[in-house]
Amino acid sequence: MPAPDYTRSRAYRAAACAHLPFGVSSTPRGRQTPVPVVIEDAQGVHLTDLDGNRYIDFTLGYGPLLLGHTPDCVQAAVSREMARGLRTATVHRGEAALADLLADCVPTAEQTAFVTTGTEAVQLALRIARAATGRLKIAKFRANYHGWIDNLHIAGAPDNDGPSTIGQDPAASADVVLFDWGDAVQMASLDSSFAAVILEPAAINPGCFAPPPGFLEAVRIATREHGIVLIFDEVITGFRLGLGGAQQRYGVLPDLTVLGKVLGGGLPIGAVAGRRDIMHDVASGRLLHRGTFNGNPLSLAAGFAAVSHLRIHAETLYPRLDAMAADLCAHVNTQAARTGIPACAQAVGSAVQLFVGTKGLTCIGDLTQVDRAATGRLTDALLQRGIYTLPRGLMYLGTPHDDADMATTRQALSEALETLRTP
Ligand code: PMP
Repeated sequence: MPAPDYTRSRAYRAAACAHLPFGVSSTPRGRQTPVPVVIEDAQGVHLTDLDGNRYIDFTLGYGPLLLGHTPDCVQAAVSREMARGLRTATVHRGEAALADLLADCVPTAEQTAFVTTGTEAVQLALRIARAATGRLKIAKFRANYHGWIDNLHIAGAPDNDGPSTIGQDPAASADVVLFDWGDAVQMASLDSSFAAVILEPAAINPGCFAPPPGFLEAVRIATREHGIVLIFDEVITGFRLGLGGAQQRYGVLPDLTVLGKVLGGGLPIGAVAGRRDIMHDVASGRLLHRGTFNGNPLSLAAGFAAVSHLRIHAETLYPRLDAMAADLCAHVNTQAARTGIPACAQAVGSAVQLFVGTKGLTCIGDLTQVDRAATGRLTDALLQRGIYTLPRGLMYLGTPHDDADMATTRQALSEALETLRTP
């Protein structure tokens, strides 16, 4: 197969690095090899780069673009809103409209406070939990990701409890206690010194792990017993695992829910939703919830349009996406078994994770078996075949992916897996 031409993307990167650190605005994007391709155009789930290479997109904005890059409903809503002026940092009707809609869709969203990113929403949730309990300690699970702020940006891998980057303040995470995700027994060591337990209810960031039976229930029982605020970080799982997110899918209800990504229909958003009694200090104005861009009209209009669309089509849309993801996993696992290449795929809902170096994982601790470099070689080989995934092997499906896209993707996966064969 002739290697695609990335001349213009390479030239852009060289020039961009002059004044733009690492040539990108978020470090992982700059780690794509052989070069971070520069995307010029996006229609539905189809991308075109600066060199004219075409891709089927499975990054979907790192998750938010469940409806693709150009959903009619979002484009129309944003245009309407633009015509009324930006109205940044004003009180406007879009705020209560989206909060009301969320109360209908997410089981525990009696009240919702908006911010601009998932990271900020996590910070607000921690503040609410600490205010509600008068306690400081936070329980976090290894390899779960909750944004890039110093306090929770630790233990990014199951075998490394340290900070995720240089430059972090270790004092910021002094009140954070680490647990192993999926281990119900460890929940017995929670006690009434904890303000909150925060977790990804389905662990997409570590590699698309569904919660083992009984785990979420054990977390719920222990937190309730000790008066600890249970926070589900549904930044990815919200509106991706279903209209009511992971809490609806698994039938375990948190006290607070952190939302982002799909909620904004592709525009920046974050939100904390929760029961009225826990949101009380925010609602009364005692707990400060600040931010110039919070609840900005364009994001809220986009979010309202996207969530309304999802609500109307939920019954057909989610089963279809989940089935497509399951098919993709089955294809990878069948090809791996047939060829003897140590690789596998696992999915939660419409999020799929590719792994090389292992034939299957049972828990997050098994991530130590994964060959990260070889997984990167697999995603490189996919990129060269026009399949655009997160470099770490995560793939998000969206409603515009059609049968032809999936057939092309299966073929590319078969070929890319073959490139991993050792001669
Ligand atoms: N929580 C989870 C589970 C996430 O996956 C992310 C982002 N990938 C965040 C929080 C942070 O969201 P944002 O990037 O919008 O700050």
